[in-house]
Amino acid sequence: MSLVDLKPCPFCGGYATLERMGGHAWSCIVTCVECGCTLESNEQWPNSGKKWNQRVTPIADFSPSGSNEGGHAS
Ligand SMILES: [Zn+2]
Repeated sequence: MSLVDLKPCPFCGGYATLERMGGHAWSCIVTCVECGCTLESNEQWPNSGKKWNQRVTPIADFSPSGSNEGGHAS
């Protein structure tokens, strides 16, 4: 059972678990049980794991059309 709704691993899509809950004197560690990657942050409960869920926005809708359109080099 996981206390925080952790998203799957960004690298392998595996199950992530809270290795250590953040506190006053210790850091928060989220570990992927599949590939073993970890994220250590200074988050404290109940915010532990939020950074893990934070993702860089994927490059969506990157299409060359639009930059070329309307600009006819004649
Ligand atoms: Zn992983």
